[in-house]
Amino acid sequence: MTIEEVVILGGGSAGLMAAVTLKRKMPELKVTVLRSQELGTIGVGEGTTPNFTEHVLGYLGVHPKMFYEVAQPTWKLGLRLEWGQRPHYDFSFALNLDAHWSDLPMSNGYYLDESFEAGNPAGAMMAAGKVFARRADGSPEVAPWHAFHVENVKLIRLFEQLSRGLGVELVEGRVAAVERGGEGVRALVTEDGRRFRADLFVDASGFRSELLGTALEEPFVDFGKRHLFCDRAVVGGWERSGEPILPYTTAETMDSGWCWRIEHERWIHRGYVYGSGWISDEEAEAEFVRKNPKAAGRTRVVKFRSGFHRRSWVGNVVAIGNSAGFVEPLEATALMLVSNASRDLTNLLLKMGRRVSDSMRDLYNRRMEASWTDIRDFLAIHYRFNDRLDTPFWRHCREETDLSGVEELLRFYRENGPSGYARYALPNSLNDFGVEGYLVMLVGNRVPHAHPYRASDAERQRWNQHRAELLDQARNGFDVAEALAWFRRHGWNHLVGVIGASPS
Ligand SMILES: Cc1cc2nc3c(=O)[nH]c(=O)nc-3n(C[C@H](O)[C@H](O)[C@H](O)COP(=O)(O)OP(=O)(O)OC[C@H]3O[C@@H](n4cnc5c(N)ncnc54)[C@H](O)[C@@H]3O)c2cc1C
Repeated sequence: MTIEEVVILGGGSAGLMAAVTLKRKMPELKVTVLRSQELGTIGVGEGTTPNFTEHVLGYLGVHPKMFYEVAQPTWKLGLRLEWGQRPHYDFSFALNLDAHWSDLPMSNGYYLDESFEAGNPAGAMMAAGKVFARRADGSPEVAPWHAFHVENVKLIRLFEQLSRGLGVELVEGRVAAVERGGEGVRALVTEDGRRFRADLFVDASGFRSELLGTALEEPFVDFGKRHLFCDRAVVGGWERSGEPILPYTTAETMDSGWCWRIEHERWIHRGYVYGSGWISDEEAEAEFVRKNPKAAGRTRVVKFRSGFHRRSWVGNVVAIGNSAGFVEPLEATALMLVSNASRDLTNLLLKMGRRVSDSMRDLYNRRMEASWTDIRDFLAIHYRFNDRLDTPFWRHCREETDLSGVEELLRFYRENGPSGYARYALPNSLNDFGVEGYLVMLVGNRVPHAHPYRASDAERQRWNQHRAELLDQARNGFDVAEALAWFRRHGWNHLVGVIGASPS
């Protein structure tokens, strides 16, 4: 059967991004988004990775003027981890440990023992609190390795506008019943009795997982027992009052988890992700407010479970977003996966003339499963090696986190140190973090290895010279507030072409 009509259940960022992606690439498709304003959206989800940038500005070709004016993002160059024994270390979106200066014999990872600062241009920018270098003519030099901080409501506003512009139908209604039949789901029935039929249903109903989890009962693979022990977050924030807008997300170690700091232009968003087996909601809220007094009186608790449904695509239902699975937001992977999943689904349909086969579904499901397990293992490394605090929660993480999924990588690292060749020891060396991400966590947390490199004085000098030059350049750059002001004055058209159109 050829897919002619798609109904998407859910108008959060997942449902709307999927709708815009499908309709943008297949205008002939009839796409309807069914959502309930009364149920609302999750209202968090504000850090992104470069996959999102690439998806929205590259693959979808959204014009920068519309993107920046409606979504009102700030730029994010990476993640600062207040983690392990170092005061902090940075995971930037450009290669650092896995990069190699041509006049030095070893890759950067071997020189970064003391400090990660300014090992690459992005790291230098983060260290200097700047976002873009300054060209000779005074304009910002925008590097492609950036992502965004963007408020959930503004992102939804952007995708609503894009949906309407493309001819996606947005329908208000709460689904009260799901009719099973045919390949999986025959129709969705709203509380007021309207029936919605389609050739393909996208379940983007968030944690409710109305179609995949509830109606089709696809089994859930739970990461909470052996890998990721957090299951709640206290969420809050405050109006910015003089704090500089930092060009990165911060992750601070807390007694029973960690706390994000996400930088919006006028709002600082913080959230304490914790394991309810180690701390009560009241205690977590008290610790959060003690460390963030400006957030007092405006917090809420969000519950979640980490894991995914074994298959995302079952019969005529494909789940995207939290309905397919969720892991805590330590590396902002949710919108990354929504981007990847929307694009994969669209590309498969495009290439196959919108005809679905069993092998297509199987392949899609295998790719999604690999993504979930990669993310699980990558996040698990963060927990296993964080020895900053000696609390019951962190002791449990250090003793119990299961890293069997990346055993080969760890063995390679322990014997050889931070060599990029470790990528071939990854179950999937092409995953979204690359070997860089793993090396950042291992070297960042000073996980010992048997191959410490003793650089000669001359080498050390060249290495320090490179870093000093990068830092000088960065200090002369634009901070986020100055860059926003520059583009508002000179126009967002200056950002056209920074992220090129990407192939289907
Ligand atoms: C604490 C926390 C922090 C997070 N931080 C980040 C982050 O920094 N970066 C990141 O990428 N992601 C983050 N996320 C994840 C992110 O919020 C989501 O993945 C993303 O917003 C997608 O959400 P969604 O669209 O799947 O679900 P939702 O926003 O929950 O949307 C669900 C939609 O389905 C509709 N719906 C549900 N049931 C019905 C029904 N019966 N009838 C009609 N409509 C229905 C709802 O009305 C709504 O429109 C975070 C999540 C949590 C919990």
